[in-house]
Amino acid sequence: MGRNIVILLGHPGAGKGTQARAIMYRLDIPQISTGDMLREAIARKTSNGKEAKAKMDAGELVSDALVNGIVAERISHDDCKKGFILDGYPRTVPQAETFSKELSNGDNLFVIEIGAQSDGLTNRLTGRWICPGCGEIYNTYSRAPKKEGVCDVCGWTLFHRSDDREDLVRERFRTYNEETFPLVDYYQKQGVYYRVDGMRPIEEVTREILTLIDKKKVLIPAGRGGNEEFAKRRRH
Ligand SMILES: [Zn+2]
Repeated sequence: MGRNIVILLGHPGAGKGTQARAIMYRLDIPQISTGDMLREAIARKTSNGKEAKAKMDAGELVSDALVNGIVAERISHDDCKKGFILDGYPRTVPQAETFSKELSNGDNLFVIEIGAQSDGLTNRLTGRWICPGCGEIYNTYSRAPKKEGVCDVCGWTLFHRSDDREDLVRERFRTYNEETFPLVDYYQKQGVYYRVDGMRPIEEVTREILTLIDKKKVLIPAGRGGNEEFAKRRRH
């Protein structure tokens, strides 16, 4: 059986983290965040970590080769046999091209962008509180914790990201669109790009994503090159 590989793209505040967690639980596949992996490598002072830190200290971007290597190694682990969710990777078309070599026949690739409009995002981000213990995400406007500042699930003290400020939110939104466009174009041409409206209630968005994944599994039998067929059906 092919792996379900989900590349999640998301506007800031569109709920990418929340949706990633939902997919992870429902499909029993791990979420792989390159940001987290880099931070971990740096903390553990591995050779990759040292290289990444040197680049970052010099104000440079971590090289594609390094990121590609970290991801390739991670997805070779046993817990990725059924598939995985990529968060923060690929970020560029060259990264996407390298990543395509990791795919095998029969894998189901989904590039899902959780879309949002910049209006209406402000509350979502400025009200957002995250649990550092278990990763649960709260919002003081729509999903407040039972006790202010404390995680319902594990009791840790919640934190608020310093860049969740209104002016910075707009800036991040614009940067996201600029950076992501080439990637969207690349995957659109392959017929594996989907966009869901992230401004709807969280559960609805989750349902849409999971339905999308289920449907494709039925439509494309592994190894029969069904991508074309699926793309055709989607156009009708
Ligand atoms: Zn928690």
